[in-house]
Formats: sequence, C-alpha cells, structure tokens
Amino acid sequence: MKTKIVATIGPASSSKEMLNNLMMSGVDVFRLNFSHGSYDDHQAVINHIQDLNQELSTHVAILADLQGPKIRIGTMENGQEIMIDGHELVFTTEECPCTADRLYITYPEFAKDVNPGEDILLDDGKLLFRVIETNRVEEVRVKVIHGGILSSKKGVNLPNTSVSLPSLTVKDLRDLQFALKNRVNWIALSFVRTAGDIHQLRRAINHYAEEDNRPRIIAKIEKPEAVVNMDAIIAEADAIMVARGDLGVELPLEQVPLVQKTLVSKCIKASKPVIIATQMMEGMITNIRPTRAEVNDVANSVLDGADALMLSGETSVGQFPVEVIKTMHRIMRQVEEFQDIYNKMHKVDPTNPENIISDSILFSACNIAREANARAILAMSHTGYSAFRISSQRPRPDIFIFSNNHELLCTLNLVWGIRGIFFDEIVHSTTRTLKAITEKLKTDGLISAGDLLVNVASTPIYVSGKTNMLKLSFA
Ligand code: PEP
Repeated sequence: MKTKIVATIGPASSSKEMLNNLMMSGVDVFRLNFSHGSYDDHQAVINHIQDLNQELSTHVAILADLQGPKIRIGTMENGQEIMIDGHELVFTTEECPCTADRLYITYPEFAKDVNPGEDILLDDGKLLFRVIETNRVEEVRVKVIHGGILSSKKGVNLPNTSVSLPSLTVKDLRDLQFALKNRVNWIALSFVRTAGDIHQLRRAINHYAEEDNRPRIIAKIEKPEAVVNMDAIIAEADAIMVARGDLGVELPLEQVPLVQKTLVSKCIKASKPVIIATQMMEGMITNIRPTRAEVNDVANSVLDGADALMLSGETSVGQFPVEVIKTMHRIMRQVEEFQDIYNKMHKVDPTNPENIISDSILFSACNIAREANARAILAMSHTGYSAFRISSQRPRPDIFIFSNNHELLCTLNLVWGIRGIFFDEIVHSTTRTLKAITEKLKTDGLISAGDLLVNVASTPIYVSGKTNMLKLSFA
C-alpha cells in the first residue's frame, strides 16, 4: 500500500498479541496519546512495539502525541453527570466542584482573555455558551445556547478567543522527556497556533534529547489561528496532522473539508507528510461494518493524496480494532489500484542552490520512472531527505529506501509509498552498492530479474546526503 495507516493505542489494543495482529493487518505507525494513560501503560506498549519490530524485522513507527494547551472543566459534584438546561451560568477559575450553575475551568487566565460575545464549547461542541460578561479576575457569566448532559473533565474549545496559555505545558515537557528517553520517531503537538510553537518544541527536543536522537515534529492543525498561519507552520514542521476532531469544533464544520484539501495539497508541494485524523471509521467503534460515508471519507482522503490516515477511538477503545485496519486497507487498495492518484509532480525550486542538484535528480528520477514505466525507484538515505522528496512526487513504482539506521527507517514508515530496507554492508563504490541492494531486493522477492529500476545515489559514496547520480538498470 502507498497510503499509510496510523493506529492510536488504548485499552483495546495495548497487548503484545493485539499489537502484533494490528501490524500484520497493515498498521504502519502506532500513536500514543499522552492525553490519556499512565507512563507505565505507555512504557509497556513501547516495549512491545520495539520487541515486535526486532522479532519481525519491521519498522513500524511510534508517534507520541502531546496534549498541548488543552483546556478542561473540573469534576462534577459527587462525580455525577449534570443537566445544563438553565438560561445562564458562571464559569470560574477558582477550583470548586462543578454544578449546573457554576463550572470550574482549568485555565487561570480565562476571565482575562475572553470577551463578551465569544463562544465557549464543551464536550466536542455538544454544549454551546456565549459570554455575557467577565469580571476579568475569576468569573465569566455566560448564556446557555445549547445545553445538555455534562460529565467531569470534558474538553473546552474557545474558537474566538486568543488563548494566552503556553504552547508547551509542564505536562508536555514531562511527556516529551519520557518520549525522548524511549526514542520515539515522531512527536505531535496539539493546538499549535504559530510556527513559533513548533520552533519552541524543536528547541526543547534539542535541549533534552541525546545528540543522535532527533524525532521529527508533527503540527496538529486544529485551531483557526493555525489555519491562518498554515504556510509558516508547514515550513517549520516536519509533518502536519489535519486534526479534524478539534478543528471541526473550532471552525465552522463546513470549512473542514476544504481546509483538509488545502493542507494536503500544500504539504505535498512542500514534501511534508500529511495525516488525516479523526472519525474516519468512527462507526466501527461499535459496529463490524463502516457507514457508506466513512468508506467515502477514507477513499476521498486517499484520492486527495494524504500520506497517512489515522484511527483514534476505533483502535484505542473500539470493539473491532483488527477489522477496522483490514477494512481500511481494503478501501485504500481499491482506490490505489483503480484510480490514478499518482504523479503529483512539482517542480524544483531554482532559488534553492543548496539542494538544486539533489532536487533536480530526485524530480527527474520520478519523471523517468513514469516515462519508462519502471518497476521501482531505489535510493540510499542518510537523513531521509531523498525519501521525503521522492515520495512527494507520488510515483507509481515502488520506492525502496535503504539505510543502516533502524530509527530513520521507522520514521519513514509514516511517509507515502516508502518501503524502508535495512542495509549495512560496507561497500566502497556506488556501482557495487547498487548491485548489492538490487540483489537484496531480488533475494527478498520484492523485484524480479529483468525489472527496470531507477537508482539514485551520491557519488563518490562518502558524500552523504547529497544525491547527485541517476542510473537506470535492469535487475
Ligand atoms: C483531533 O482533534 O482530531 C485529534 C487528532 O486530537 P486528539 O485526538 O488529541 O483530540
């Protein structure tokens, strides 16, 4: 498959046996959501995934998703659900049990930051309030627009408010250090507002991580500010997640499909992977079959050209985690086999002298592969640069990326079409290296004798990271 699958792990999927079944069914990346679960839970899952990768010689990636500045209400009086059906109530930043008249909110500057007329949404937008007045200290009086049943610790969205919370909370920094200690491949940051938020996370990674451990950063787009700043965020981040759950609460719902399409198209042009997340197969949390709309959503995301599709509740708490992956896989295969989603060729940037040689070669490799109807594109990768560039042209032939770095191969497992292969033979010439990797593919049954291959490499071989050679050959 070209399009990759990200599965969120939770109680329904955290045993080694289930992780193994999910990998066998087609999961490429496991997501650990740091909004839930203890470090002991996460540690056990990470150990299982790393053991399975070793036992099965696979490179399934680990993505740590940091909660970011998520705002919540407090706990309900007596732990019971309450019915919000009055006309008005008060939000307070002074800790207290929540009642139908008074809700505690975990955002100290709330009364200073909100303004009359702004909206407050609770529980994924199920309840809606509008600010009447604030005393600018600790109390905000609101009108109930849509009431409903409310339980403890539900999430709060403030789509119109400029929230002054830091982008990385104390909890995020703790979670980040845990993730770095475990050498995860990708770190996602929630509620990103500006490119500066990504820059700050990168500084924290550089500060806490070991020299040889630099996980890549995924910016979750789920705030209106992030949509406004999407170009700068794409430029600063290593990948993007279209986090449609919160995005659909913070933006008018009808804007989400076009934001998704814009983000996918911009990311492909920028050679940055893009993940479509949330409610892809939501109905399969409790049903063995998806709805027709869900099948269409998956198919359309593949048609758009997303690198990866993500499952949340479907695999973390759902009743049918393995069936979800198998069903998603079947839908993706159908689209990839029968629809021309390929060759989204985008030109080399001539103003970038540093990469002009690599970019020209990689662009031409994809072009030639298409013209010559090649079987596969082969590249050695030290930093992943060639892999990201080749993938972003969305070539139809297989893309085999060789590296002696297991962690890089795991990182690349998120990326559209990339098949990473471990290769650590010391070969002292480019010609001999190409011969060795071709033989390896034949031995592994991934290509056949006589297949047309497009090879890209750097020569002399010790000039790493600078692809400057393109060669066509028959296997
Ligand atoms: C989302 O909001 O769509 C999302 C992926 O984030 P989370 O699951 O952390 O709420």
